[in-house]
Parts: sequence; structure tokens; C-alpha cells
Amino acid sequence: DMDVVPADSHSNRSGSPDVKPLLDRHRPKLWKPKRVLVTPAALEWEHGHAMLTRAEALDCEIVRLKANRLAGLAGDDPRRAYVDAKNTLAIVVAPPTKLRLQPIPPSADWRLDLAEGCPAHCQYCYLAGSLAGPPVTRVYANLPEILSAAERHIDRGAVTSRSAGRRHEGTTFEASCYTDPLGIEHLTGSLGEAIGFFAQLDAAVQLRFTTKFDAVGPLLKLDHNKNTRMRVSVNAPSLVRLEGGAAGLLARLQAARRMAEAGYRIGLTIAPIMPVQGWQEEYRSLLNLASETLGSVPGADLTIELITHRFTAGSKEVLTSWYPGSSLEMDEDTRAQKRTKFGSLKYVYQPEVMEQMRGFFMAELPIRLPEAQVLYWT
Ligand code: SF4
Repeated sequence: DMDVVPADSHSNRSGSPDVKPLLDRHRPKLWKPKRVLVTPAALEWEHGHAMLTRAEALDCEIVRLKANRLAGLAGDDPRRAYVDAKNTLAIVVAPPTKLRLQPIPPSADWRLDLAEGCPAHCQYCYLAGSLAGPPVTRVYANLPEILSAAERHIDRGAVTSRSAGRRHEGTTFEASCYTDPLGIEHLTGSLGEAIGFFAQLDAAVQLRFTTKFDAVGPLLKLDHNKNTRMRVSVNAPSLVRLEGGAAGLLARLQAARRMAEAGYRIGLTIAPIMPVQGWQEEYRSLLNLASETLGSVPGADLTIELITHRFTAGSKEVLTSWYPGSSLEMDEDTRAQKRTKFGSLKYVYQPEVMEQMRGFFMAELPIRLPEAQVLYWT
């Protein structure tokens, strides 16, 4: 089962790193969590019931909790706790803090969390530094509250925080900061609901999500009013091997193509960019594949976001416990340090490496995807 295989055990899936992942049409099975926990508070919401019904239909083991807190998830063995958590879905009510949206530059004006956690196993997972406790996927039953919170944040101070490349995008809400909403959509339906909700808002308001999954079928027929931008998160072919359980590179790009054909705005999130051996050739292959797959969609509105790899002491510690054998480079000595906006240290690439990589993309993108608009490099 794709969903129970830890990432490092299929790192040899692709054989030759140069060719095979390029043809990687791998389409992961829809995630079937081993265990679904549901809190009493979640069942006070219709959407909580709807998600429970979806889990029951998939024949998951359902555990109806007596209390609203998730307890007993950690254990002595972090790797075991990780595997168990990654096989668990919890239907809960989002805490009130989630209803006060946070600005999330440069990717969007506001962070909109429909869920937290995801079924993939990326060895560089962005969540590693920010989750408290094992990475159980939590899905939020109080979706109507979350969506009306979004509506209250439209244009509230957004214009000043908006980075130059994104200004024409309107007020943007990012649904992928803490989850991969498409990877769990068959269990939640939350993304479809959100797309429908945003469709009725002003044209200058945009829902954004990024994904490493490809099951876009249920989204294609929705009335989205072009107010949603779907991006696929992609990387150099050899780095996609670090993304256990996710769809293959080509499958992701084809999903974006189908979305564009259904009239959605689309994009590429190229992340996390790493100067691995032969990186120019690697990223050139990626851009060629993107250009072949997406270049010919008539009238496609395609944006590009470029995000280099970074880590913190905290995320490194968590990732090392989750993926003890990972080949991911996290060497403080070769990196430059930067302060995060919360005052902690993050490790980024040295300025000359950053400049080289930025120069590469700024030169190659206009050749391979001339219609695409680069939103930011970070
Ligand atoms: Fe983490 Fe995102 Fe990968 Fe899920 S898709 S494991 S949230 S990096």
C-alpha cells in the first residue's frame, strides 16, 4: 500500500535518476488512513459528519473519541510515532487561532488552513519545524467558520504586504501552508467547498493551493469562476525521489494541464530548489517537461514560484528523527544564516549560490515557458 510505505523504502523506485522520473506517471492510490479519529465537537458540524461518511465509505477504522483533545499520539520511538501518525486522520474543530488568519508572504496575503498534515512523506517536509507532536493529519469540521474568516480578511492590510510580483493577483489566500489539500480531498471535500465559496467572491480575491498529488477529477466540473489558482509543486527529477507517496512528476504536470483546460488558473511551485550535482541539467529537464506538458494549453494563466531549500535547527532535528537514512543535505557549515521573521535562525544557501541559481531560472524560464509569469524567488 502506497499509504503505509515510509518514504525511504521506495527511494530506489526510480532506478536511473536521469531518465525514468521524467516519464514518471506514477499515480498514487487515494489515501486510506488506517485509523480515523473523530472528536465530539467535530460532529456538531455538518461538514464533520460529511467527512466521517467519506471515511466510513472507504472502510477505515473509525474511533469516536470521548474528548476533544487528541492524546496519546507520541511514544518513545519517534520513527514509530511518525509512521502511526502518518496513518491517522483526525476529524476535529480548528482552534480559534486558525480563524485569525496570518499573513504569509511571499506566497500569499493570508494563510487559510483547511487541514493540517498530509499523507506524503517528503524528506524535507516543510511542516517538520512547525507541527507540535507527531504529524497526524487533522481535517477541520468547522469549514463554514474558516471560510467566513477568510471573507473578513479580504483586502485587510493586504496591499502593503503584497510583494511586487504578486500585486496583480488580488487578495490571495493560501490553502497549502500546512497541508496538501488535494491529497486528502477524497476524504474531506473541503477544497471543493472552498473553491465554490471563493467563486462567489469578488474577482480580485483568489484561493491558491499547491499540490504533489494529481486526483483533480472532482475539481474539474466545479464552478470556480477563475478565482482559484492550482499550482503543482515540482522539482528536479532526481529530487522527486525524496517525495514518497506523492504523484510522479509527469502525473502532477498532467493534472495541472487538466485544471488549465477546465479554466482554472495554474502554476508551478518549483521547490525546494537545491544545487544538487548536475542541477542545471536537472532543472532544464524539469522545465522542458513542464513546457511540453503545459506550454500548449490555449489561454492558460500560468505563474511560477521559485523557492530554495532552507532549514532550521528545529526542522533538521525533527526530519532526522523521521527520516534517519535520508540523503538530504542539511549542512549548517556550507550554508548562510538568515533571521526568520520570528527571530529564529534559518539556514539558506550562500549568496553566490543563490545568485547562480536565480540567474539560471531567470534565463531559462522565458525560453521554455514564455507565457509564464514569475511571482517571486526566495
Ligand atoms: Fe510535507 Fe508538503 Fe510533503 Fe506533505 S506534501 S509531506 S506537507 S512537504
